[in-house]
Amino acid sequence: MLYTSTRNNKIRVSSAQAITKGISDDGGLFVPVETPHFTLEEIGKMVDMPYTERAKAILRTFLTDFTEKELEYCVEGAYEKSKFSSEKIAPVVNVNGNENILELWHGPTCAFKDMALQLLPYLMTVSAKKTVDGKEIVILVATSGDTGKAALEGFKNVDKTRILVFYPVEGVSPMQKLQMDTQEGDNVAVCAINGNFDDAQSAVKAIFTDSEIKAKLAEKNMTFSSANSINWGRLVPQIVYYFSAYADMVEQGRIALGDEINVVVPTGNFGNILAGYYAKEMGVPIKKLICASNSNNILTDFLTTGDYDKNREFYTTTSPSMDILISSNLERLLYHLSGENDSYVRELMTSLSETGKYTVTEELSENVKKHFAAGCCSEERVFETIKTQFENYNYLIDTHTSVAVAVYNDYVKTTSDDIPTVIDSTASPYKFSKSVLKALKSDISGDEFEIVDALMEYTDVHVPEPIKALRDKAVRFKNVCNREDMCEMVFSLLKL
Ligand SMILES: *Cc1c(COP(=O)(O)O)cnc(C)c1O
Repeated sequence: MLYTSTRNNKIRVSSAQAITKGISDDGGLFVPVETPHFTLEEIGKMVDMPYTERAKAILRTFLTDFTEKELEYCVEGAYEKSKFSSEKIAPVVNVNGNENILELWHGPTCAFKDMALQLLPYLMTVSAKKTVDGKEIVILVATSGDTGKAALEGFKNVDKTRILVFYPVEGVSPMQKLQMDTQEGDNVAVCAINGNFDDAQSAVKAIFTDSEIKAKLAEKNMTFSSANSINWGRLVPQIVYYFSAYADMVEQGRIALGDEINVVVPTGNFGNILAGYYAKEMGVPIKKLICASNSNNILTDFLTTGDYDKNREFYTTTSPSMDILISSNLERLLYHLSGENDSYVRELMTSLSETGKYTVTEELSENVKKHFAAGCCSEERVFETIKTQFENYNYLIDTHTSVAVAVYNDYVKTTSDDIPTVIDSTASPYKFSKSVLKALKSDISGDEFEIVDALMEYTDVHVPEPIKALRDKAVRFKNVCNREDMCEMVFSLLKL
């Protein structure tokens, strides 16, 4: 299997190169040059496999430059049972009728990013051995919350790697801040930036491309890499759980092998739902991929009209991981659905960076609509849906999952398409305790942990161990710096 760039499809690289580089030199994203296919019989065989075997079956077809032993090492290490609060790793829970929830938050940080970021460090260190042998990899992350913690947890104490995470002082929840500031591990560091997420992100990007800094790193036999969601090494682990969910639906007798399902995904950067699209192309019988957005509904508009326009108001919502106006992974979909037309993708991306918008051809837009449906949801609906989901079905969801459930309800109402459906649940309700409790009862007070306790008392739902454990953890990181001083901070944290 080889990979090419969405902006220059003459390029050919191995999966190890795609994963170590992260992004192509032309600014494009790496995509596989062909799509592996699984027959129904092969998918049927997954019914009896544990998650790790399902993962190996998928990864084997994409990471053909990895040996069987390397795959084994990566997958068994990443999805080790002790790190997940469910034996199934990503269990499917039936809530009511044809509504099934795929719980993707049983990992160490209680958000779905763990599904990919537990595996990425393994993929990256094995890849680096093949491509930049001997170098120490320095991962730089700018985060608005969930990614930073999941990346720290994934890379902690991984040999030959260091990880530095920057988060905006004003941009993360108290729980997210505490999760990061108490991070354990010998190769990790965390620093708050005075400013917002865009400040942190652009400063990190500037450091990545600064040749002086790169040279200084090279002297110490170090090299930068990125763990953000455009890395192929983050996308490929996500394909696995769509196969896994389908196999579980068959196992539970909710569908027969070969029956179609719909899939609903609460979407931000378009990584999770794109993995669902790959699974569909690979043979999982998915009828529609339903893209759920919060008030930042740029994707709803694009998927239904073909116009992408980020010149609009940005809303800060209670589902912050979906507060995004540039969904980077959409570029991969545009590439595939335009008949792998790299010059067309270049044109669209130039238009996006120069004018903040683009419009795709009628043909491409129709093509998109064949695979995707889309909807969005107001803040009020998010709260209402948490409440009704709990009161009617005794099932507690977080704010992101609530967006997906609300959009799913609308979809069924307007289309009458109520076939068995899998809804991705991307965070534990306890990660967003305050909003969740507020949705259930109006009068709430107290600090983060008092609210966690109150939510548990009210719902009788188990609190995940990692959140319980936070209470007693010592704060290790108190660094704060200005954007202009980030470079100095990187040197000082790396002791250069
Ligand atoms: C990152 C995240 C999302 C959005 O996923 P994308 O792959 O960026 O579309 C949704 N929910 C939660 C809780 C997340 O952390």
